[in-house]
Amino acid sequence: MARFVYADNAATTAPLPEVISAMTECLENTWGNPSSQHSKGYEAKALLDESRERIAKVLGCCANEIYFTSCGTESDNWAIKGAAYRMKKKGRCHIVTTKIEHHAVLNTCAALEDEGFEVTYVGTDSYGRVLLDELEDAITDKTGVVAVMYANNEIGTIQPIKEITEMAHAKGALMFTDAVQAVGNVDINLKELGVDMLSLSGHKIHAPKGIGLLYIRRGLSIVNLIDGGGQERRKRGGTENLPYIVALATALEIATERIPELDRVRAMRDRLIEGLTKIPYSKLNGHPTERLAGNVNVGFECIEGESILMWLDMAGICASTGSACSSASLDPSHVLLAIGVPHEKAHGSIRLSLSHENTEDDVDYILETLPPIVERLRKMSPLWEEIEKREQLTK
Ligand code: PLP
Repeated sequence: MARFVYADNAATTAPLPEVISAMTECLENTWGNPSSQHSKGYEAKALLDESRERIAKVLGCCANEIYFTSCGTESDNWAIKGAAYRMKKKGRCHIVTTKIEHHAVLNTCAALEDEGFEVTYVGTDSYGRVLLDELEDAITDKTGVVAVMYANNEIGTIQPIKEITEMAHAKGALMFTDAVQAVGNVDINLKELGVDMLSLSGHKIHAPKGIGLLYIRRGLSIVNLIDGGGQERRKRGGTENLPYIVALATALEIATERIPELDRVRAMRDRLIEGLTKIPYSKLNGHPTERLAGNVNVGFECIEGESILMWLDMAGICASTGSACSSASLDPSHVLLAIGVPHEKAHGSIRLSLSHENTEDDVDYILETLPPIVERLRKMSPLWEEIEKREQLTK
């Protein structure tokens, strides 16, 4: 039988059986509207409250600090726009973020720039770690919001969010972190972390697509993004997506319980990195250790990432060139460019992202399959021919 290896877990994950059964149970039995004033509604409201409590317990916050949304993108939009509009009233119309954020953050900031907000995009070192001195200098008494992602979706680099939060707070700014990729990878205790807002998304942790949440610290009131009925304490209109909320609570509990098992995923990641970087003219993108447990991002000179993906797919391996959200564009990754990877090398990078569901056999299969693909594609590359000629001359 043909092999199938799913190594694109940063794009999305397969829903877990426990998650599907919790969701199905809710769809079949607890389908009432949580706002209805009858037994079916009360039952749904009780399940909604219980799910919120379960999530708050995992994240180390209070249930009334959790607001359900439709996805990570909505949460990112709401946090940044809602906080920016609030802080504008205090004369703070400046936002500080980084060059390597997800487009959900970058395009939100760009939209705010169109409205007259000023945005500073802080750079990173070559591993993708935010330049803390540059960040600290960028925050002024006019800064309303600092938005820095917890972990990068393309290269997996993890940022020191607690330290950055202290910098933001020292200058009176609000701190938001996009933790969409970090959740289930790092233990998050919101009270200890100290951020004002944090976003996450269900489909990155084996819940379905179409559910996310925004944590908003108690006492902080940001401007609404979606006005409507009285749901989510009048902060986010729309009948609650209860089956998906139950799914998110279940997935989040499981993902957090399994954090200690990430050592196995890390070992598979490191085996892949070791094997793939043995290929001549290849390079790991991102930090060697301060990276997400399942993230492998390697650049291969003289070939196109898209061609590698096509051949991998034919061999039954699902991978990606970076962010699934920008795969329609042929521009090189803004993240790779921001960490200093030259344009032509950025084009030859691919991302393999593992989860608990992957096995050592998957790693063996990728290590057997990928090097011959790189070799085959290079044989067709005029750029590679030049390198070979150069090497012949220097022998
Ligand atoms: N932020 C990061 C870091 C992501 O990786 C993603 C999705 O890839 C998002 C935000 C957007 O999340 P969603 O797909 O739930 O809108």
